[in-house]
Amino acid sequence: MEKQNVPELFGSLVFNDKVMRARLSSDVYASLRETIDKNVKLDESVADAVAEEMKNWAIENGATHFTHWFQPLTGVTAEKHDSFISPSPDSGVLMEFSGKELIKGEPDASSFPSGGLRATFEARGYTAWDPTSYAFIKDHTLCIPTAFCSYSGEALDKKTPLLRSMQAINKQALRILKLFGTEANYVRTSVGPEQEYFLVDKEVFDKRPDLIYTGRTLFGAMPPKGQEMDDHYFGVIKPRVSEFMEDLNKELWKLGILAKTEHNEVAPAQHELAPIYSTTNVATDSNQLMMEIMKKVASRHGMVCLLHEKPFAGVNGSGKHNNWSIGTDTGINLLSPGKTPYENAQFLLFLSAVIQAVDDYQDLLRLSVATAGNDHRLGANEAPPAIISIFLGDELSAILDAIRNDKPYEGTEDVVMKLGVHSLPRFSRDTTDRNRTSPFAFTGNKFEFRSLGSSNSIACCNIMLNAAVAESLKQYADELEKADDFEAALHELIKRVITEHQRILFDGNGYGEEWVKEATEVRGLSNLKTTADAMPHLLDEKNKKMLIEHKVFTESELNSRCEIMLENYVKTVNIEGLTMVNMVRKNYLPAIERYLYRLSQTTVLMKQVSEKVKCKYEVSTMERLSELTDSIMDSVTDLEDALAKFKTLENVFKSSAFVRDELLPKMDTLRKYVDEAEMLTSQRDWPFPSYGQLLFSVN
Ligand code: ADP
Ligand code: MG
Repeated sequence: MEKQNVPELFGSLVFNDKVMRARLSSDVYASLRETIDKNVKLDESVADAVAEEMKNWAIENGATHFTHWFQPLTGVTAEKHDSFISPSPDSGVLMEFSGKELIKGEPDASSFPSGGLRATFEARGYTAWDPTSYAFIKDHTLCIPTAFCSYSGEALDKKTPLLRSMQAINKQALRILKLFGTEANYVRTSVGPEQEYFLVDKEVFDKRPDLIYTGRTLFGAMPPKGQEMDDHYFGVIKPRVSEFMEDLNKELWKLGILAKTEHNEVAPAQHELAPIYSTTNVATDSNQLMMEIMKKVASRHGMVCLLHEKPFAGVNGSGKHNNWSIGTDTGINLLSPGKTPYENAQFLLFLSAVIQAVDDYQDLLRLSVATAGNDHRLGANEAPPAIISIFLGDELSAILDAIRNDKPYEGTEDVVMKLGVHSLPRFSRDTTDRNRTSPFAFTGNKFEFRSLGSSNSIACCNIMLNAAVAESLKQYADELEKADDFEAALHELIKRVITEHQRILFDGNGYGEEWVKEATEVRGLSNLKTTADAMPHLLDEKNKKMLIEHKVFTESELNSRCEIMLENYVKTVNIEGLTMVNMVRKNYLPAIERYLYRLSQTTVLMKQVSEKVKCKYEVSTMERLSELTDSIMDSVTDLEDALAKFKTLENVFKSSAFVRDELLPKMDTLRKYVDEAEMLTSQRDWPFPSYGQLLFSVN
């Protein structure tokens, strides 16, 4: 029987700390804990003991197989299942699992994208256990979170650079904390990702080839009702959706995922789920798992969960908010203003580090969320613009202004504020009036990066964020470690940083046209509108230098990633283009023709009956529809030519620019004509479910 008690249910399929402590000998447990907390190498006998208990626990909980679970550059997770069985001398089987099998696996990985990193003759990459993320059971399989590398040690996944970026920020942050005399063994970043998604009825979904092949609708006229009434946001959750959410929560809780907040979003059929935050690599694993489970549970309820950034034109798309903070193992949130002047100075230094990082590496943050899908959202008045800027809020901005201008901060004692000496005013952590249009907002004790697309792995942006902040901290540590007067040097440094990086701070309306003008023309911020514009900056000298210096990526890893991401963009749009051609030729044109045939037959017959009939409706509809079928024909041919041509381009930089400049505009044109034809054609003849049927399919 299924357990109903939430505390009992929670984590019941996870080999977590509680299970480890209960099942492992105290020596083994202590040694594993060292590995988890301090990144100390695990010795083989310990690995054997852990593997044995892990296997016993997994079998008791119904598992028969195990898999190394990893995150190749496709953006989804991969697994290859092996059963525990091995033959025993009495012709039976034993259930076995060794430390070696726990620590290392060798999936045949030649079909995963490697961007030239792995020649086919050395196709075998290997997976390596990440003991900091707990193993869990899914579909009768013990899943062991792992990193995925080539034999020459290059990362073929998203987890490896993420773990490296966490080490980089840990190293530099500890140097800073030492200067302040703050006690900490290690520093970790934490993330709480808020996940948006759409639910549509499976039967309606199955009738739309565009949704099936591309995850988004490529055609569809707007229904009479969209999201303009604002009646869906935080509205009452429909029974079918609420049953889905209940089921989803249970599945996630079993896997130790802290699913917490759920509500309806702005668009019809759109919803959000936010877990409680956790350490970044665990949060990343959990988010991948959460997306997978969402799809699975939806299908149990006769629905399909759409994680695409822009499944429907004309209503909001789906994003993911990456709530990010940095804290110590001793329980200090370094982005939380403290109680003493010293704590406050420390807070302001970390705040400065983030401000500088976001300014210096705007392009890396932008490209970390760049995909064909997300390009439809950013800058489209529903999501933050493609321009990266930081929102701090009135109070914190006023404090920084006071420091910058050597002025007293109003509301406190009338002296010029001196860091490390004066208290910071206590400011409220009210998050209700924060600016929703900002891509990167301070929300009291964390930053919320809002540019992510709903299907993005959160690994990418956190790799960049961690690395960029590590770089700021490194510069500060280099400078402050040499200072004779720490307090004076600290004050000067913070003042300098917030002065130099003033341009990245913006509290106004990020959706306005004026902001684009000011940001690009006056402030010199970058505005990288598409993946084709953004991704090549991964290979800019300054970016390569920083990422390589902090050992987050090697040069060849960067080259490969740039190529894979651009290739992904090109392939995605190519599939969309081909799907459009297919739908137009096989369905839309024949459907309109069928309707035209009926109209023309009717007109002829009616005129035979009486000379007086005008057939206004029939004739005007035919005239316009026939113009439209001509335009559709021209633009579908144009699109086909472009699709044929772009295959001949010699590299991904050229083909991605071609996608941006040629393919996408041609697709838009074609869609425009088809959508107009939809409005003029009878529903009976229209070959696919309408937007109205899709958006209001779940009741
Ligand atoms: P919103 O008002 O933006 O919708 P929610 O309350 O839905 O905010 O989600 C906020 C997210 O931020 C949650 O996942 C929460 O766990 C996470 N969060 C809260 N505090 C921190 C922190 N210190 N570091 C990282 N994430 C945090
Ligand atoms: Mg949010």
